[in-house]
Amino acid sequence: MNTLEKTRKIINEYNIKANKKFGQNFLIDDSILEKIVEVADIQENDLILEIGPGLGNLTEYILKKSNYAILIEIDPKMEFILKNRFSNFHNYKLINEDILKINIDDFIEKVEKELNKKFQKVKVVANLPYYITTPILFKLLQESKRINEIIVMIQKEVAERMVAKNKSKEYGILTLMVDYLSDANICFLVPNDSFIPKPEVTSAVIKLVKNKKYDVKEEKLFFEFIHSAFAQRRKKIVNSLESKHFRNMTKEELNQLLEKLGYSLNTRAEELTIQDYIKIVNAIGEENGNE
Ligand code: SAH
Repeated sequence: MNTLEKTRKIINEYNIKANKKFGQNFLIDDSILEKIVEVADIQENDLILEIGPGLGNLTEYILKKSNYAILIEIDPKMEFILKNRFSNFHNYKLINEDILKINIDDFIEKVEKELNKKFQKVKVVANLPYYITTPILFKLLQESKRINEIIVMIQKEVAERMVAKNKSKEYGILTLMVDYLSDANICFLVPNDSFIPKPEVTSAVIKLVKNKKYDVKEEKLFFEFIHSAFAQRRKKIVNSLESKHFRNMTKEELNQLLEKLGYSLNTRAEELTIQDYIKIVNAIGEENGNE
């Protein structure tokens, strides 16, 4: 039986309806499922974290390839289905929780204690619920210290914003945050007929390898600065920063700073590269005596 047939069977057997509220779109294309685990390049010492296993379509591929997986699913209806489907597998732990509400690293540690084993890498492999893509990704990238790689299906538009070039309309806070925290690549696109029910949008699988490669002296200042700068992306950056009361700097102070660093006073947020942002923010930090 292929995944499409299995999905139909489960839906009938358990009388399941995809729950829109939870962003349920079940992946039914076996060649795509195979490609996702291939991109994840699962190794002996990897712990896999799947967010939103749903009926278990991707989970089946994961459990066959990996030593151990933690599955986090918000919908309590899925528990019974998953336990039945994977009754022959003993290499997983299913957690019925909201991914946004838990401390992921605590669960990883708990599993490691139970197994008396320390995993070398933790990889997130998932077809994410699209309505909360960015909060999930920020949580995985910023909050967790244990996650090393993230291989996920998301909406194509969001994937494009993550890897955008400056001066494009996709370029923004998400681009800068992702670049600051990881090396990001779009692996392949996935048409909407690979799912049931069909989502309205085209999807993409992206791979993020965590890597802090830039020398940002004060992270908080950097995050604050890019949020203020992009508050009004079409405006001159000094005006956006001033209207957001960025560190209460006056327009004159902001102009002086840009001038000193060799930028035009007409610069707009979308024109600057991440290196430009870091240069500016580190200079502000220095002037403030690195509080
Ligand atoms: N992995 C499955 C299902 C993907 S749909 C497949 O590819 O077929 C997204 C899944 O995420 C659904 O199962 C949904 O119930 C789950 N989900 C939605 N919000 C969640 C949250 N906050 N925490 C954990 N899981 C969530």
